[in-house]
Amino acid sequence: MNALPYSLKGKRVWVAGHKGMVGSAIVRRLEREDCEVIVSERTQVDLRRQEQVERFVKERRPHLIFLAAAKVGGILANASYPADFLFDNLAIQNNVIDAAYRNETEKLVFLGSSCIYPKLAPQPIKEDALLTGPLEPTNEWYAIAKIAGIKLCQAYRRQYGCDFVSAMPTNLYGPGDNFNLETSHVAAALMVKAVRAKEAGTQTLEVWGSGKPLREFLHVDDCADALVFIAQHYSADEHINVGFGRDLSIAELAQIILDAVGTKASLAFDPSKPDGTPRKLMDSSRLAALGWKPKIGLREGMKQMLAWYLANAAKARA
Ligand code: GDP
Repeated sequence: MNALPYSLKGKRVWVAGHKGMVGSAIVRRLEREDCEVIVSERTQVDLRRQEQVERFVKERRPHLIFLAAAKVGGILANASYPADFLFDNLAIQNNVIDAAYRNETEKLVFLGSSCIYPKLAPQPIKEDALLTGPLEPTNEWYAIAKIAGIKLCQAYRRQYGCDFVSAMPTNLYGPGDNFNLETSHVAAALMVKAVRAKEAGTQTLEVWGSGKPLREFLHVDDCADALVFIAQHYSADEHINVGFGRDLSIAELAQIILDAVGTKASLAFDPSKPDGTPRKLMDSSRLAALGWKPKIGLREGMKQMLAWYLANAAKARA
């Protein structure tokens, strides 16, 4: 086990999943540290294949691994590809975690998300709500795999003394988000719709459901900052929540997005679409007590995400 704070100076750091929204944010954040970032290209290393992962870790010998590689997606994707969500995620994490142990990786930070928690967990959700009730059935494939990943880190910690920790971020938004209306989450979806409404001169913004559900949103660059902080300052059996600390209604979010886009459309709620769970807010007081807090407010963060979306619009809309 490493002494805290764990120093990144001169370390080789493998960001597994560097093309994803979180992985790419971690790579950006690590530019400010005195460490060497290494990545594995999908064409060379299929993380679902144990021998390929073992070979990569043996050759490159990272000191620290951020395990941000995962098969992710919304309700529709989860429902359509349950086998992929369960198998791919289990395979990726089994391979990377075991290879880290076998090659004496000093530290590993495993990432999951808030959907590991029971559907009806008391709010704000504390870490110890894990496995206290049934999961949200629509994403249980992903959730079960991620819960197994948390347990695997704990098991290697207990049996072999590996300094492997797990971090569970809340809903994220920012550069690299998924802007496909079929599969995206609410912030990206409303941003696309608001931009289109502005371009078309439409007076309304369509918002699914009642606009009343409460959600928490964390900018992905804040998330990456928290993950680096966790690598440096956290070493424990239990996973740790990574959240913004406050929630707001979907209607309030929609208004912030309209302001960022610069259009005065009014909100048109579509009650035929589901509201989903009434509230999803993490309790991130454990991370706050260690001394980390988010820096990017929602208004500023949405403007940044909009700039990224507009600069990458052609790609994002393709
Ligand atoms: P959730 O946090 O797992 O419920 O996932 P979402 O981010 O997809 O949805 C959050 C809330 O935003 C739900 O109440 C949705 O009904 C609402 N919402 C409003 N408009 C939209 C939209 O255009 N797309 C999505 N995905 N959600 C929307």
